[in-house]
Amino acid sequence: MAGIATVSRITWLVERAECLFPGGVNSPVRAFRAVGRPPLVLERGKGPHVWDADARRYIDYVGAWGPAILGHGHPQVIAAIVAATANGLALGATNPHEVELGEAIQAAMPSIERLRFVSSGTEAVMSALRLARAATGRDLVVKFAGAYHGHSDGLLVEAGSGIATLAIAGSAGVPVAVAATTIVLPYNDSASVARAFAEHAARIAAVIVEPVAANTGVIAPAPGFLEHLRETTRGDGALLVFDEVITGFRLGLGGAQARFGVTPDLTTLGKIIGGGMPIGAYGGRADLMDLVAPAGPVYQAGTLSGHPLSMVAGIATLAELTPARYLALEETAANLAGGLADAATAAQCPAAVVRVGPLLTVFFRPTAPSDAAEALASDSGGYARFFGSMLDKGIFLPPSQFEAWFPSMAHGPAEIEATIAAARTAFEESVA
Ligand code: PMP
Repeated sequence: MAGIATVSRITWLVERAECLFPGGVNSPVRAFRAVGRPPLVLERGKGPHVWDADARRYIDYVGAWGPAILGHGHPQVIAAIVAATANGLALGATNPHEVELGEAIQAAMPSIERLRFVSSGTEAVMSALRLARAATGRDLVVKFAGAYHGHSDGLLVEAGSGIATLAIAGSAGVPVAVAATTIVLPYNDSASVARAFAEHAARIAAVIVEPVAANTGVIAPAPGFLEHLRETTRGDGALLVFDEVITGFRLGLGGAQARFGVTPDLTTLGKIIGGGMPIGAYGGRADLMDLVAPAGPVYQAGTLSGHPLSMVAGIATLAELTPARYLALEETAANLAGGLADAATAAQCPAAVVRVGPLLTVFFRPTAPSDAAEALASDSGGYARFFGSMLDKGIFLPPSQFEAWFPSMAHGPAEIEATIAAARTAFEESVA
């Protein structure tokens, strides 16, 4: 008897998506080009799992690219959103939830004396740097190679994330004059920072840094690097901006600034503070933030800024984030990293598992990289084979060597053991 051919919904959806969206996606990394596999279409998430459109379940380490610290579809977060819809959606004036989430963030991050909500991390960074330029009356901005700070014009120069994954040096369409206001230095290289400040004394508005680099895979700050940035910027009259879009509420309640004991002038946030809804925020010293309109002359606005559903999702998420749960998350990540390192060794696969708190990356190179150049020299073909093998075993990793893995608070010992068991074979299969 002839069987009935099963049609993959994913294939059908991907074909239609490719007619609609450039490259079939609404954000480049979703296209899976770096791992040479057809992209997934995901339609459901619960706890540590996601399900694709063909009803296959995966243990998820993409975590919506960062927001899903509680796991997917956390009941309190969903309940908060559903309850808030009863009051309508955006109403076009300040809503009570903005005040509540603002206070929760301020309580966790004391350097944020005032803040402004926006709708994405890109907007947060773009606005923070406009403010830094206005406050200092200077044009230049220092960023580090491989750091991703969103897709605004000046910040795509030598960026990470999708830019690293697609091996493009920046972006077409960025005016040369705008790119020329960005100075790109190697991460963790204090001497080059000192040289840049000597060369451009009193001309640099700000240094922006991911305090833990997480967009060419995870790279830890070298001891003293963040402190050096703090001293150098202060000495020159420039501002220090921590881009904590990934690290904020991921490395603990106070973010990277609490973990490393270095206080920036301005901080950008996103992802976790919106609990999976669109969000961004920038904040910091009150004297600086008071330059933002309507208090001051730096214009920045947004129709959907402080959206009630983003606010209540953020409030509900932050309410779950206790010190004890961060400790447990860190232990989960440590067990995962340890098991992966053992599995790589057993398979004689030269991989370095880099972990900073709950963030980790398996680099297909023998040692942990200290900057983007080293990270980018990893064997991304090896990673692609590893990724494919893990996906076939029901484990969804970031579809690129150059991204952080995001285990969540919903990942328990069973998920970690299953992941390590799959990795034992996947490391063997990744060896070309
Ligand atoms: N900064 C950092 C450190 C990020 O990792 C990202 C996105 N991954 C952004 C900014 C931009 O955020 P969004 O995608 O929300 O615009």
